Amino acid sequence: MSEIRCAFCKGTGKDPFDLLSKLATCQVCGGTGKVEVEVRAIECAYCKGTGVYPRNGRVTCTVCNGKGMVTVKGATEECFRCKGTGTAIDSGLFCINCGGKGVVVSKS
Ligand SMILES: [Zn+2]
Ligand SMILES: [Zn+2]
Ligand SMILES: [Zn+2]
Repeated sequence: MSEIRCAFCKGTGKDPFDLLSKLATCQVCGGTGKVEVEVRAIECAYCKGTGVYPRNGRVTCTVCNGKGMVTVKGATEECFRCKGTGTAIDSGLFCINCGGKGVVVSKS
């Protein structure tokens, strides 16, 4: 595991959108400003590493849970359906084929 700066609150540990109150802690990192990810983590394609759900802008990204990074296991290749964007071209929701990561585990 390695520690990265929390993408959702940008490391401040505070709720970036003041959803509860100005003093509310970030729901992603619990106020520490840091989140733990597994070592083989890549930037979340769906939110582009921001940790923010791109279709709403005030809630956490459903793909990475606000961390801005997602874990991949083994060798990966670019998702052919979303071309690595993590976003379904027709609906704007996350790509079902790769789960929004933009990459899929290569079968070869
Ligand atoms: Zn945070
Ligand atoms: Zn994300
Ligand atoms: Zn995809």
